[in-house]
Amino acid sequence: MTTKRIMSGMRPTGRLHLGHYFGALTNWLHFQNSGGFDPYFSIVDWHALTTKYQDTSEVKGNIFEIALDWLCVGIDPEKATIYVQSAIPEIAELHLLFSMFTPHNWVEREPTLKDMVRMLDNDEHAAQEKVTYGLLGYPVLMASDILTFRGELVPVGKDQESHLEFARDVARRFNHLFKTDYFPEPQPKFTETPLLKGVDGLKMGKSFNNDIKIADTDSDTAKRVKQMITDRTRIAKSDPGHTDLCEVPWPWYNIIDRDKADVLALVKDECESAKIGCVDCKTRLAGHINDAFRPFREKREKLASDPDQVRKILEHGNAKARKVAKETLSEVREIMGMTTWPT
Ligand code: ATP
Ligand code: MG
Repeated sequence: MTTKRIMSGMRPTGRLHLGHYFGALTNWLHFQNSGGFDPYFSIVDWHALTTKYQDTSEVKGNIFEIALDWLCVGIDPEKATIYVQSAIPEIAELHLLFSMFTPHNWVEREPTLKDMVRMLDNDEHAAQEKVTYGLLGYPVLMASDILTFRGELVPVGKDQESHLEFARDVARRFNHLFKTDYFPEPQPKFTETPLLKGVDGLKMGKSFNNDIKIADTDSDTAKRVKQMITDRTRIAKSDPGHTDLCEVPWPWYNIIDRDKADVLALVKDECESAKIGCVDCKTRLAGHINDAFRPFREKREKLASDPDQVRKILEHGNAKARKVAKETLSEVREIMGMTTWPT
């Protein structure tokens, strides 16, 4: 039976949030637990440098935190290869080779670049100065991440769609230039909820201070949920609410309680007939989130007390990933006619 290669990654820029869980990790678990797939999951630390090169003090700690987040939700090192990007130098070599034939206007027109620039500095001029060669090359590095493992399916959130299109363009260009069909054209794989909102109604993001972490405590979660933007037209508690205008809590009920039609019907009725105010409604939502994530949080605490076990998991994954990466690069050098002379 042929297995399909799965590849995806996350940046060690902070603990993971519910957007990661419902936007990507549920699909990772699906691929890991269904037969016929060979998943590679990477903690992409070089990517963290593209926006925070001047301060690396938190990268190592964040690698550990991400590993804990993955393991506590059920990512299984027996079924998936879990590794750290910078332990695989072949990815950097492929990035360099790709950069030689990637036209510069491909990276310049990349739509996500604007968001990245905004993240760097509120002042547009100051931000522009922080756009490094490495940041511009983000999609080339991501194409290398995927294609080093000849990834065919890439489970990611909606914000990554244009990067996947970019990776397909790079694969196609390589195949065309070197008259081969070596690289697959990687396809994105989205969950039913590919773009989760943060408490402010914008994309939930690690770097936007609008997220609820997988590892948050019950009270952290309650505090955050209280900040959620609701129905802006509902002024007084006695005004009937509108679930269709409720910006964040109602969409989140539909995620957390998606299989509970009776709960959703009750929440809708209580809102629309003004039986409950937004504050109480959000307190209830926080309770549902905490109930859903409690088992993960408990498992995470146990794992955190044994860093050695996590280190061993990553070392094992790094070795396994490196073997595949070496094979790919040796084949790529052969195809490109770049085997070293005279050896
Ligand atoms: P940062 O703010 O540092 O970029 P992030 O929260 O965007 O962090 P990434 O590490 O860039 O996280 O993304 C990891 C994966 O999680 C990607 O597949 C991305 O699409 C997905 N993801 C992140 N945030 C969301 C979200 N709000 N909804 C759906 N998917 C998301
Ligand atoms: Mg991101």
